[in-house]
Parts: sequence; C-alpha cells; structure tokens
Amino acid sequence: MEEIQRILNEVLPLVVPSEEEVKKAKDAEEELRKRLDDVLKNYPQLEYRFLGSYARNTWLKGNLEIDVFILFPEDTPKDDLERIGLEIGKAVVDEYELRYAAHPYVHGIVKGVEVDVVPCYKLKSAGKIKSAVDRTPFHHDWLKDRIKGKENDVRLLKKFLKVAGIYGAEYKVRGFSGYLCELLVVFYGSFLDVIKNATAWTRNTVIDVPAGKIYKKKGMGFFVVDPVDPKRNVAANLSLDNLARFVQLCREFLRNPAKDYFIEKEVEIPSDEIIANEIEQRGTGLCAVVFEKPDIVEDNLYPQLEKACRRIEDFLRRENFLPLRSRFFADESRCVLIFETQVKELARIRRHEGPPFEEEEHVERFLRKERKYRPFIEGGKFWVYVERKNWKVEDAIADLIRREWRSMGKNVGEMLKKHFEILVGKSVLKIEGKEFRRFLVDFLCLKLN
Ligand code: ATP
Ligand code: MG
Repeated sequence: MEEIQRILNEVLPLVVPSEEEVKKAKDAEEELRKRLDDVLKNYPQLEYRFLGSYARNTWLKGNLEIDVFILFPEDTPKDDLERIGLEIGKAVVDEYELRYAAHPYVHGIVKGVEVDVVPCYKLKSAGKIKSAVDRTPFHHDWLKDRIKGKENDVRLLKKFLKVAGIYGAEYKVRGFSGYLCELLVVFYGSFLDVIKNATAWTRNTVIDVPAGKIYKKKGMGFFVVDPVDPKRNVAANLSLDNLARFVQLCREFLRNPAKDYFIEKEVEIPSDEIIANEIEQRGTGLCAVVFEKPDIVEDNLYPQLEKACRRIEDFLRRENFLPLRSRFFADESRCVLIFETQVKELARIRRHEGPPFEEEEHVERFLRKERKYRPFIEGGKFWVYVERKNWKVEDAIADLIRREWRSMGKNVGEMLKKHFEILVGKSVLKIEGKEFRRFLVDFLCLKLN
C-alpha cells in the first residue's frame, strides 16, 4: 500500500492544475462574472451560477472548462429559454460556437479559457426536471461540501479513466461522467477506496449513494443511484464492456501499481505492410463500409452507427458468414463500419427448406416449381438446392444495405442510401489517417509495444 501511495503522490502533479492554470481560470472567471452581471441587468428574472468541475475545483489539469448555467424561471417557454440563453452566451464570450446537449448552448472563450454557457430551468426539486441539464444545480448543491478535501482524489480517478479511454458519458465513449467520478469518491472516501471496491463490482451491482448502501439486484444493469433524483441511474450511459474494462484495470493496478496508469502515451502503430500481412495471413473476411458523415452531433451519430453495425452483423450471422466482430469509426468527414468474418466466400448453392411430406398440396406446389436441381427428402421434409444470390461477403453486405438502409439509423441510413463504398481485405488500408490505423489495429486485436 505504501508503494501505491508513493505512486499517487508522484502522479499528483500530472492531475492537479498548476498555479498559472488556476490564476488564468480565476482571471477568466472574474471577467466572465463582470460580463454576466452586465448583461443580466437586462434580465432581472434570471440568475447565473458557476457549476461543474471548475466550480468544485475538481477539473483535471489541462482540461479547464468553465461551466456557467443561466437559470430561468420554471414558467419560461422553452423557445424563450433557448433564444435568450444563446443571446446571453454570445454576449459574454469572445469567440463562440453553438453546441448541443439537451438544447443548444454557447461554447466560447473568455480570456483564453474555454467556457460553456448553458441555459436551464430553476426548479424546486430535481424530481420534476424538464431536461437533463436542470439537474446540474442540484448535483452541485449535493456535492459542494461533501467533495471538500477530496478534490485531488477526483482528479486521480478522472485521469485514470481518461488514460484508459473511458472518461466521459457521451455516446462516443460510453464511460464515466465527471459527476459519477465525484459521487464514487464521496461514497467510498478516496481514489484508492474506489479502486479497491470496484474490483468486486458486477453487472448487477447497485450503489445506493443516498442510502449509503451497496447491494446486488438483477435486471437493471450496474446502477448508481443519483442522490438528487433516486430514480435516475448516474451510470446509465456506462456500457457493460467499459464497466468490465474498469474493473479489470483496477485489479491490475492493485496487483501491479505503476505511474503508467496515469500517463497518456503515444502507442507505436505497426506499418501498413505489417497490418496488410496480418490481414492476409489470418484468412478472414474483412469489409469496411465507408460513407460520408451525416452532419449531426456525436451523441446522435454514434447510436446510429451502433445500430447499423448491429443490423449488418446480425445479417452476416444469419447468412452463415460467421462474423467475429464488428465496429464503427467516424472522423470529421467520413464514417466506417467494419466487419471481420470467418467466412469470405460461401458455396454457390444453399439448401432451401420445403414442406413436410404429409402436406400434399404444399408438396405439389413445391415440386411444380421450375428449378435447376432435383428436390430430396430428409427428416420427413422436402428440400432443394438453390443458387445463392450473394456468395461473397462484400456483395452480401452491399445488397443488404441497398435493401435495408432505412433500418440503419435515420441520418446514417440516408447517407448509405446516397452512396457508400466497400473496401475488402487489405485494401481497407486505403482509408487514410493515423486515427483510423489506431482504430484498425485495436479492432484486429494486434499487440502493441
Ligand atoms: P469535467 O471535469 O469533465 O468538465 P464536469 O463535471 O464539469 O467534468 P461537464 O461535462 O463539463 O462535467 O458538465 C458539467 C455539468 O453539466 C455536469 O455536472 C452535468 O451535470 C451537466 N451536463 C453536462 N452535459 C450534460 C448533458 N449532456 N446532459 C445533462 N447534463 C449535462
Ligand atoms: Mg466541465
């Protein structure tokens, strides 16, 4: 344990913001408050609050972002909240872009610091929220005092998760939100206590934060009860596989503690030649469906990509291509759905099932049909060989997409309908970019140094 404490002390400077960063944040906060006070003179019914990790001093070094919430009276029409929220946001930041969560908000810069200006309703209880962001003031009130003295434990946990690629509740990640990290640290008491206890978490674990209890209950998945709204699972967006990754990571860290768990490192990606050789050698079918990225936010895109992927993989299984795994990838301009199968090419014929011999009429109809092959009887049923429409995996996928793009997510489906390309085998390496290579190497489960 002393070993672990020594490591945690050593990595603290990597997660705690430097004095300059804190100073920069304070300056930006001061300026932002001035601007907000000024603008809000015109809106006496509104108030603003600093919430999120900046307000609680739990932001991760190098990841400073000030979250300001504009609180509107409960009876404000939604349109007014959105319109005025954006107006205020635009008025108080230097440069801005629009972002989308529950509703559109302004993301901008004040004195070199990133700022989110988010409108929400001011409510009496968190049980009656209108949109997810309305819970945030309640989250802050609940955490504010309880997190005192434990800020750096939160930072250690965020960094530990970030290095593992599972920090963030957005659909692209499906990992742990900042709020979840803080709740876990409050519940267990410290970073190390979270890690130790997590080794025994299961898919049925319920962490009842308001009751101070932990138990198992089947059917709801890993559940962390929100102390401000007990019906709500704070870990709702944590995927089963990322839960499993975290639990295993905690076990490994405790067995073999090291600073590496807190340091993001550039992995060396094998050359295209090595990847191409591997693809040839393993003899699998590899197909990448490439198409233009629809112009929608990530939290909308990723669930659609997931759906399209699942549709195609299920199809490949039904059609006996024996899929190994499927995944999806997106960057600024394109999306890729990738499939690896144990079968590249099927026989030209397949068995087609006919009626049992007892059903005379059906049998007659079955036998009357013009066919290339002679029907046969097996297990008291008629069968016949028919020619397969698509025997190559890439043709089968293309045909499915052309027939069933409608079931592959609204915007993703529309893009697929418009145009897609399928790259096969090592030609998937025609897809350019380092990020895609990282993704591909991970998909193929290649070991890295
Ligand atoms: P970080 O250190 O990563 O910034 P944070 O706790 O500040 O951690 P943010 O993602 O910046 O997390 O969000 C700030 C607060 O706003 C959160 O505590 C959360 O309650 C709320 N929030 C942010 N995004 C959403 C969302 N999409 N839906 C609902 N609430 C959100
Ligand atoms: Mg934040």
